[in-house]
Amino acid sequence: MKDLISLCKRRGLIFQGSEIYGGLANTWDYGPIGVELKKNIKDHWWKSFVQDRADIYGLDSAILLNPRVWEASGHVGCFNDYMMDCRKCKGRFRADKLIEESMIAADQAAEVGGWSKEQMEGYIAEQGLKCPECGAQDFTELRQFNLMFQTHQGVVADSTTAIYLRPETAQGIFLNFRNIMNTLRPRLPFGVGQIGKAFRNEITPGNFIFRTREFEQMEMEYFCAPEESLQHYDAWRRFCMDWLADIGLKAENLRMRDHSEDELSHYSKATSDIEYKFPFGWGELWGIAHRGDYDLTQHQTFSGQDMHYQDPQSNQKFVPHVIEPSLGVDRLLLAVLADAYDEEEVNGETRSVLRLHPRIAPIKVAVLPLSKKLNDKGLAVYQQLQKHLVCDFDTTQSIGKRYRRQDEIGTPLCVTIDFETLEDGAVTIRERDSMAQTRVSLSELLHALQAKLAI
Ligand code: ATP
Repeated sequence: MKDLISLCKRRGLIFQGSEIYGGLANTWDYGPIGVELKKNIKDHWWKSFVQDRADIYGLDSAILLNPRVWEASGHVGCFNDYMMDCRKCKGRFRADKLIEESMIAADQAAEVGGWSKEQMEGYIAEQGLKCPECGAQDFTELRQFNLMFQTHQGVVADSTTAIYLRPETAQGIFLNFRNIMNTLRPRLPFGVGQIGKAFRNEITPGNFIFRTREFEQMEMEYFCAPEESLQHYDAWRRFCMDWLADIGLKAENLRMRDHSEDELSHYSKATSDIEYKFPFGWGELWGIAHRGDYDLTQHQTFSGQDMHYQDPQSNQKFVPHVIEPSLGVDRLLLAVLADAYDEEEVNGETRSVLRLHPRIAPIKVAVLPLSKKLNDKGLAVYQQLQKHLVCDFDTTQSIGKRYRRQDEIGTPLCVTIDFETLEDGAVTIRERDSMAQTRVSLSELLHALQAKLAI
């Protein structure tokens, strides 16, 4: 993980947030290379979950919502974690995470989701859990902590103006269910997808971009008839797993974990997490939940607006059930980086390389003239290719250093321009993974690159 974080900084993928002021803990900025990678991941999700699907619509709803939304959704009452402090070192911890870590260490199934305060306190006392920071066995009582960020709208900061930064993008979709029904008149089953920022005042953020207080989510709510919902739930679980394999994540680093009855939210019929084997251990990457008719029914009750769907064939009226695949952009980006990161010996030197799938690689092709005298020719090639593929034009330092730089940001192909190019009109394509080189004429270059990238 240390090597990955240092590569991210060195190569302009991810910087510490507010760095010149000494940073702000657990905030990160995506640099010029990171932002391209992030955009490619989001674009690919959007294409697969919205554009390629006749049954799914896109949405971009507001971050600030009427505060009643969060009462209806249960976030004001239930979006709490239990925290405890170490009396000795003053470290603060999330009780469920500490217990899960201890269970994983003891090779037990770590499922703490539905545990009560008493159950957690019982486990901590029985197992004699120690503070992970200082080793003391002296924790305060467990206290509930609401994860929503509260702020105020308008100039007067009183309780009537209190609003929240959304802790998930999903509620904006439920709020627009009627708008979409009334304007586009879709038939069930149909889905609505959205990508956007979410905020959670996490007690223990950390592990680089795995858990932060400000992050992005890609969520889709799939509305369906109650009797078909379990079938759709199964289909979405499979679809999501296949999608991760399709962007290049290795099968051995992925697993599906079904929540036990204890762990399920009171309204959920079934939930699975796709977990990824991060450098620090297995962690949730993608939650796929069967939310029943909970959200729409709650909004119907709180807003007084009708959330029923009338089946055009049977004329039956019912509140649709919902399947929700919910994925964190930043968490996926970390999984993608960890999965792609590789080190190998080449001619007695260590080469770091990001073996990213060409579809999500930030830069597809780097154009590298071998000498300053070839820069004009190189620039002309770059300008031609840039119209079709995201390219880089790099003229500084030795060719070996330039290859390493491109390897480290996962550029699948480099094109080198040499003195022979001026005579035979041909260039060399060098492949990131195999480092194999092939000579191609300029007239066929774009075609050859596109064929190699296969995107
Ligand atoms: P966790 O148990 O890790 O706190 P969660 O079960 O609360 O996660 P969900 O509410 O299901 O997470 O959110 C859906 C997805 O959003 C997660 O699978 C994850 O990819 C992402 N996500 C949630 N919280 C964070 C966070 N603090 N930082 C980054 N991504 C997050």
